Amino acid sequence: MAAPSEVNGDPIHCPAKVPAMAYPLSEESAEVAANIKYHSQYSPHFSPFKFEPEQAYYATAESVRDSLIKRWNDTYLCFHKVDPKQTYYLSMEYLQGRMLTNAIGNLNILDVYADALHKLGSDLENIAEQEKDAALGNGGLGRLASCFLDSMATLNLPAWGYGLRYRYGLFRQRITREGQEEVAEDWLEKFSPWEIVRHDVVFPIRFFGHVEICKDGSRKWVGGEVLRALAYDVPIPGYKTKNTISLRLWEAKAGSEDFNLFQFNEGRHESSLHLHSKAQQICAVLYPGDSIESGKLLRLKQQFFLSSASLQDIIYRFKERRAGNESICWNEFPMKVAVQLNDTHPTLAIPELMRILMDDEGLGWDEAWDITTKTIAYTNHTVLPEALEKWPQDVMRKLLPRHMEIIEEIDKRFMAFIHSSWPDLGSGLERMRILDSSNPHKPVLRMANLCVVSSHTVNGVAELHSEILKSELFADYVSIWPNKFQNKTNGVTPRRWIRFCNPRLSDIVTKWLKTDEWITNLDLLSGLRQFADNKDLQAEWASAKMANKNRLAHFVLQVTGVSIDPSSLFDIQVKRIHEYKRQLLNILGAVFRYKKLKEMSSEERQTATPRTIMIGGKAFATYTNAKRIVRLVNDVGAIVNNDPEVNKYLKVVFIPNYNVSVAEILIPGSELSQHISTAGMEASGTSNMKFALNGCLIIGTLDGANVEIREEIGVENFFLFGAKAEDVAKLRREREDGLFKPDPRFEEAKQFIRSGAFGTYDYGPLVDSLEGNSGYGRGDYFLVGHDFPSYVDAQARVDEAYKDRRRWLKMSILSTAGCGKFSSDRTISQYAKEIWNIDHCTVP
Ligand SMILES: *Cc1c(COP(=O)(O)O)cnc(C)c1O
Repeated sequence: MAAPSEVNGDPIHCPAKVPAMAYPLSEESAEVAANIKYHSQYSPHFSPFKFEPEQAYYATAESVRDSLIKRWNDTYLCFHKVDPKQTYYLSMEYLQGRMLTNAIGNLNILDVYADALHKLGSDLENIAEQEKDAALGNGGLGRLASCFLDSMATLNLPAWGYGLRYRYGLFRQRITREGQEEVAEDWLEKFSPWEIVRHDVVFPIRFFGHVEICKDGSRKWVGGEVLRALAYDVPIPGYKTKNTISLRLWEAKAGSEDFNLFQFNEGRHESSLHLHSKAQQICAVLYPGDSIESGKLLRLKQQFFLSSASLQDIIYRFKERRAGNESICWNEFPMKVAVQLNDTHPTLAIPELMRILMDDEGLGWDEAWDITTKTIAYTNHTVLPEALEKWPQDVMRKLLPRHMEIIEEIDKRFMAFIHSSWPDLGSGLERMRILDSSNPHKPVLRMANLCVVSSHTVNGVAELHSEILKSELFADYVSIWPNKFQNKTNGVTPRRWIRFCNPRLSDIVTKWLKTDEWITNLDLLSGLRQFADNKDLQAEWASAKMANKNRLAHFVLQVTGVSIDPSSLFDIQVKRIHEYKRQLLNILGAVFRYKKLKEMSSEERQTATPRTIMIGGKAFATYTNAKRIVRLVNDVGAIVNNDPEVNKYLKVVFIPNYNVSVAEILIPGSELSQHISTAGMEASGTSNMKFALNGCLIIGTLDGANVEIREEIGVENFFLFGAKAEDVAKLRREREDGLFKPDPRFEEAKQFIRSGAFGTYDYGPLVDSLEGNSGYGRGDYFLVGHDFPSYVDAQARVDEAYKDRRRWLKMSILSTAGCGKFSSDRTISQYAKEIWNIDHCTVP
């Protein structure tokens, strides 16, 4: 970095021509430059004598925020005046990624800002990289919430997101010789320029305490400890529209009266800050470990904190918009409010709404129940039994005594309803209950069941997943509520996931379609089909891909020190590390490929398709097998990449710290991506959509949204392998009966790992988990052994297809052309019409 310098009395290290002036809403590059300079000098975050990338980033972000605030205010006032029905999206996770490029891109002033920064001697891309990812989520579910916000804003829908303002988001992953190491990610270390604190938006949140019965028989929850929820708004601008909606994140606070000055002066420093430290714990981290009781309690507190603060805010707004009315007509509530639960994490919104309506507003049970069930809808994201939330009844009763009463009453009334209307339901009855006391020592609450019973609509996130919900997980309910269940296949926002992350390809698409309207009407991509064979398009397509691969290769060298060949096939699998996602199948395939390459003569090798296999993703800190997989990928890479005989034909690289920003570099440079979960286990997947949209071919199973992607882009453009969902149960039974006959290639690959070829770490326990018949480990529950031979065959088809450049390019173009359906704009339009019943409300 250059040393700070004084230029003609101008203390800032950038051209003196630009005066520091506040032009908050200008779209003129000279004025934008002046506004950026204004922030660098008058926003008191740094000393004013430097304009190095970090200061430049904050000053630039603040100049963008000026226009976002204006738009946010206009949007709020417009919604307030029109008072349309509004959707509130409740999610424990948002995986927002960086904001700067996305915000100025959506405001359609990318060029203006690039120009303005140029005038200041800076570079937009370089400055954008200074931003820390807001990683307030884990993976697909959180990223979906963020894509949905972008689409809701772009479609001018009256909708808001609610979440928690975690101090530390998802951990940063460091890779050492021992594998993954977790480091706290302090995204607020300095501050976030994108959030606006609302000191006037504060709600009390109670925990513990007890229920008092009043003279009139009504009930009140009193006592316990009371914290405060303070609102922070992150403005979410729509693309090429004035509408700018809100992601409202709650922070937990204790009040100043909760600080016991007397105790503090007495020297009892810790107890004087008791509630302050409790408040800090609530928003400290996303997913605190919950293997111990105190961790469980903390997670439940987080869930209630989000649910209660959001509902109090929603109700406050509902009443505010009716201020001056004689009395509030609560039946209007479901005509003004739709609440969407992103999985079961915010389920406590259900008893909390019931509690407020009955205990605070004085409604009777039936009226409150009618309003609640007409307001709430639930999205299911998983059928994995271990991921279905179950809370111990005693923990719930202690933390939220009134809510426990309400849940028990919901369960009781539901039972009575079933008994009277469906007396012959038999054993289904126990399975459908919310209270599960089958283990008398540890009775639990089934949160998914509470959601199904209390919501007007339940949806899955891809066609196959929604079918499985109806035929398996929620089959019992389908007979009594056949119309409650819907499908809403996920989507991704085309703004972040192609337009901004892949400007080269976007420009080509715009040129050939002769319009950029595809960015908001993704179905127009199908217009590329007619040019799939066109030599000129193919040449442009290939050159964009090569430029993106070069950039990716440079990135890989930077973060891993491994040099990869941009002319090799770039084969990528990035997602959370989980046994059901089967990174182990990928690495086993890589090991097999390595072994075969070693066995070839050097002439034979020259006919092989050179490949670079990249695998990335975070493993949950306490998930042992997932962490072993991370280590194995690194160990295999260390041997393969340093083997001079084969490393021209194969490299294996672990990409550290996978997050949204890393995805934005990987996806444009990918040629093949792996979505290879055991059929029936991946609800949808969304990175499959991001990759296909960017012209990357997919090798995958018939699982989640793969099924629909394959239909849309054409079965001949998809490398399919593996068991079908409907066969999985039978295959698992056969294996238990000892009938599984492993393919010799599978045995060979496992044996190679067991032989110690990849270092001294004992991979025995990991490989044991793949043994086909019971007796070892988990008995290959995820069917890696069954699918291995067809996977290897599919990879051989990939190698062949890649040798035919024109065929590959055609398939790549057809992938992009077939992705129209996978825009989150389409998904959100369907939610708006078919679940929320809301209409657009466009800011004039
Ligand atoms: C899209 C995305 C995911 C979801 O990936 P899947 O392969 O669908 O599980 C996870 N993490 C990040 C950072 C993403 O961008």
